This record gives sequence, structure tokens and C-alpha cells, in this order.
Amino acid sequence: MALTGLEIYKQLPKKNCGECGVPTCLAFAMALASGKASLDTCPYVTAAAREALDSASAPPIKAIKFGNESVIGDENVLFRHDKTFYHPTTLLIRVSDSLSDDELSLKLQEIKGLEFDRVGLHYSIDGVAVVHESGDAARFEKVAGIVAAGTEKSLLLLSSDPVALKAALVPLASRKPLIGEATEANYEAIVNLAKENSVPVIIKAEGLDALNDLVVKAQALDYKEFVLDPGSRTPVETLANLTHLRRLAIKKKFRPFGYPVIAYTSQTEPLDEIMEGSVYVSKYASAVVLNTSTKAHLLPLMTLRQNLYTDPQKPIQVEPILHSVGDVNENSPFYITTNFSLTYYSVEGEVETSKIPSYILPIDTDGTSVLTAYAAGKFEPEKIAEAMVACGIADKVKHRNVIIPGYVAVISGKLAELSGFKVIVGPRESSGILSFSKTLS
Ligand code: SF4
Repeated sequence: MALTGLEIYKQLPKKNCGECGVPTCLAFAMALASGKASLDTCPYVTAAAREALDSASAPPIKAIKFGNESVIGDENVLFRHDKTFYHPTTLLIRVSDSLSDDELSLKLQEIKGLEFDRVGLHYSIDGVAVVHESGDAARFEKVAGIVAAGTEKSLLLLSSDPVALKAALVPLASRKPLIGEATEANYEAIVNLAKENSVPVIIKAEGLDALNDLVVKAQALDYKEFVLDPGSRTPVETLANLTHLRRLAIKKKFRPFGYPVIAYTSQTEPLDEIMEGSVYVSKYASAVVLNTSTKAHLLPLMTLRQNLYTDPQKPIQVEPILHSVGDVNENSPFYITTNFSLTYYSVEGEVETSKIPSYILPIDTDGTSVLTAYAAGKFEPEKIAEAMVACGIADKVKHRNVIIPGYVAVISGKLAELSGFKVIVGPRESSGILSFSKTLS
């Protein structure tokens, strides 16, 4: 949480000497609060004030970057509706180094196919977690190399053996993988390995008290690029730990827990595993490692993630331009709807099902649905008529019919007058489009 200018001012020396480039300490505090000055330019700030200002102005959960643009943490609220969540949970697929080469190749192929398009957005799995289970350091290094060559996605290298981890990490350090896991037994070696290679590291301990102790010890190694693992592997315990960690970080600003948190699914049945993953994505894992790499299993989880990590104040929208569904021609029906993604794609899906190539023009209603837009004055006949002219529909079809949602039948007369088109009142719900389309000739 950023400090206000007055809160910063309380910590300043109040000499008003002007050596920082502005005439007074208050002006300097205001410049600091707006990010236009650096604390370093005041030579009189005490060590205690510097510590207080540095610590108080830091985000409650540190942002950690790794791999292919994966950013985790840096969240400020407990609930999405308080503001928004910023960094979607990073999803990684687990690949054991005990797989045979053929199994590994198949797994990588499957991971490559994990790309989805939904409501106009593209999303994909974020990374691969290479897990050292073979007990053979050379095999771990080899599998890490094969995975790195087979995917550009972010990497997590997971071993509790510092020697095996070093062998796998050093050739891949330029990929900036996340590494783990630093435990009570090995933390000095693994945190120093992470520090030498400038990569983030997972700090793992059983339970929150032990995790706190270990984080404090790891921080004493003068490195703070951490991701936390509270060690639990059952859904109930993990949910409790994730919730406590997030509350302590956000509400209490408890600095040892001000890092992103990773969770691992434990369920062996894929659908159970996805339910477990859904719990962790909802509350409050920054990264989740999953076993399944089947597209049909992952789509619901990624849909949930997408819904949670959209800004509640900015509905998902489609571009308000003329869209063609199918092989359109001059006789194609012409539908009007709004640019709220869920509304638009519901309409588009039903039009597609009708198998009648059609035009759809989503009106820019700031991403609101039909009734909401109409109530807010954003789905008015004047605006629709203007959009019809702008999209050039009159040059694309030889008929002069426009189909509007049934909920706004009331605008028919005015729209007909303004557009010169005959207004056909369509169904209220998109689910009625299929039967409605059969009445078109
Ligand atoms: Fe105040 Fe420091 Fe600036 Fe002097 S240099 S005016 S003490 S903030």
C-alpha cells in the first residue's frame, strides 16, 4: 500500500534545507509519494526512517518474475471485488524425470497443444515443472534440457538435491527458471545457488511457523526472490495455509509472508485434481503445479482463472466492428447485439449453430449486456444507426433488414426511421436464435 505524502513527511528530517532539489521537506514528501523523487536525494534521512519508508512503501506481496514473462504475487487485496487481482495464477504441468524418453516426448507434445481461445481471448498453460524423482542427478539434468528444448514456456526445476539442481540449472540459467526447493536441511546451498544465478527460489517448510523461521533465515543470506511452499499436500490443509498466508501478508503486512505462494495438486483422478486446482486458483495460490495435461481437463480450470483475474470494473469486450459468421453473402441476415463478450459469443454461437452465414454488429456499450446497456442509455437507436453506417452494412447486403434483441423491441420504430432498415425483433435470449433463424427466408 503506497504511503501518502503526509505519512512520508513524518519520517523526514524537516530541515527544509533544499539540498534534495525542492525547497521544503513537505514538497519532497509529495514528490516521493507521486514517484517523482528518490529517497536517496535527501542526505539527512536516518537509517530508521529509511527502513520504515522502504518497508512501508513495498507492496504487501512481492512480485516475482521468472521464465517466459511469468509474474506472480504483487496482489493488494483479499477479494477481487475490493479492487482487482493483477497476476493470474501461473499454471505449470508436472513432468517427472522418471518418465521414459518416449513418455517424455508424448507429454511435451500434449503440453504444446494446451492453447485455448474463449470469448475472444487466448490463453495457454504457463510453464512446465521438471521434478527430480529418479534419484539420478544426470537424468534430472538431461530431462530438464529436453524439456527446455521442447518448450518456450516458463520452467520450474524441482529437486531437494543441491548438486542435481545446480547441474540442471546452470545450462538453463538464461531461461530464468524458478527453482526449488530450499528446506531447513539445504536452504543455504539452494538459496545461494539461486542468488548466484539470479533466479527465484521456493522456500519450503512444514507449517507456517516453520516457514516463517526458514524465510527469516533465508533472507539473512541477503536474497529475497522467494516463492513460499507451506508444505501441505491435502486440499483442506493447503486451503487453510494459503488463506492464512494471504491474510497475514495483506491484512497484517507480515513481511516474512509477503511473497507469492505455490501449491501442488495431490488428487490422482483428473477431475478431482481440477476441482482441487480450482480451490487453489480461487484462494490464493500464485502458482499451481498440476499432473494432468489433458486439454479437456484444463479448459474449465483456465476458464475459472480467466474469470477471476479479469478486472471487475472492466467487463470483457469484443471489438465493436462488423463480424462475419460463416461464408457471408449479400443475402446474409444482419444481427445487432452488444459488445459484452459473453453476450456477443452467446449470439455468435447460436448463429453458428443455425448454419446460416450471418453478419453480427456488436454495438460499443462499454461491455454491458443488452438490458443494462439500454437502461444506461448506451444502446440507443441513434448510436446503433451510426454504427450501422460506420460498418458499411448497406454495401454488404442487398436486403434492408436488421435483427435486434427482443428485449429492446421498444427501439424498433426509431431505429427504422434513422437507419432506413426494416427492424425485425429477434428473440430475447440468444438461445432462441436457432428457432428464430428458421423463420428467416
Ligand atoms: Fe528536507 Fe532532506 Fe530535502 Fe533537506 S534534503 S529539504 S532535509 S528532504
